[in-house]
Amino acid sequence: MKALVFNGPRDIRFEDFKDPERTVDNAVIMQVEKCSICGSDLHIYHGDQIGTTNYDEDQHKFCVGHEFIGEVVEIGPDVHDLKVGDKVLAAGGTGCGTCTLCLTGQPGKCRKSTAFGLSHEMNGGQAEFVQIPNADKTLMRIPDGVSDEQAVLLTDALATASFGINNTGLEPGQSLAVVGLGPIGLLGIELAFLRGASQVFAIDPIAARRVHAEKLGAVAFAPGTEAIGAILAATKGGVNCVFEASGASSAVASTLPLVRMGGALSFIGLPQPGVALPLGHILYKGLTVKAGVAPVPDLWKPLIPLLQTGRLKAAGLFSHEMDLADGAEAYRIFDAREESVIKIMMNVS
Ligand SMILES: [Zn+2]
Ligand SMILES: [Zn+2]
Repeated sequence: MKALVFNGPRDIRFEDFKDPERTVDNAVIMQVEKCSICGSDLHIYHGDQIGTTNYDEDQHKFCVGHEFIGEVVEIGPDVHDLKVGDKVLAAGGTGCGTCTLCLTGQPGKCRKSTAFGLSHEMNGGQAEFVQIPNADKTLMRIPDGVSDEQAVLLTDALATASFGINNTGLEPGQSLAVVGLGPIGLLGIELAFLRGASQVFAIDPIAARRVHAEKLGAVAFAPGTEAIGAILAATKGGVNCVFEASGASSAVASTLPLVRMGGALSFIGLPQPGVALPLGHILYKGLTVKAGVAPVPDLWKPLIPLLQTGRLKAAGLFSHEMDLADGAEAYRIFDAREESVIKIMMNVS
């Protein structure tokens, strides 16, 4: 098959790769139709670190990508809820499917839990075909009334944004600031209003992303002391909640002056190495801090009716549509933030 294959930092190539084989009974083989690039894929692209894996060191070649939808083409004997021909979306990661945590619906806490496309141990879906272990829990048939674009967003970005906004504990009438206006930050704005936010402030250095945030009803600023001053003035002392969706040190640091006494911070951006939060500030301000990786399938049930009824639109995020064969160029554009890129959809088949 053809796939986008990690050959080293800034060297993701569209090339031949061995067809995936079903290695466990609870797996299916999926033929990928559409996939997208995530901000976290850029950590791989840059040769940075994710968890304990350093992508600047020698890696076996592997297929990248954890955001994809497609069709089930082969099924293992321990898969019960799916059949060949089902059109499905995949959670961005999964567990083994056989330990107690997996069997009780908590694959994110499984010791073997991992995202797709981080190493050769679980190849990703920026490829023509991909093996999906623990398939009953990891895949969902794409529901009626959910578009392909929305289905791709449900694989990670929309679920992650929802998890992060839920973690702020925002109550109706409260104010919220979003730091980092990639797709997850932008989705966070829409979700915060759905949850009842009275005011949403949005911070990002890129003008096109601020324009998108303002269309969603947020008041947007470039990062800096002026933004913080304006938000403190508008909220008479700081927002109730901050949703941090970047992971950059400066973005993380900016959350502390933005939040009011007794407020809440929610972090979902993958932190740059060495990013720290000063405990003294958190303690004296009496803040609630939450962070984590979204248990993606748990978020599908509440999000799908919102999408089906049009209450949640999650629209306008795919600024680019390209073919998988142009994946190397797609990574280059996404990394360089050229052409006002927000998110890139790639057509596979
Ligand atoms: Zn992602
Ligand atoms: Zn497990």
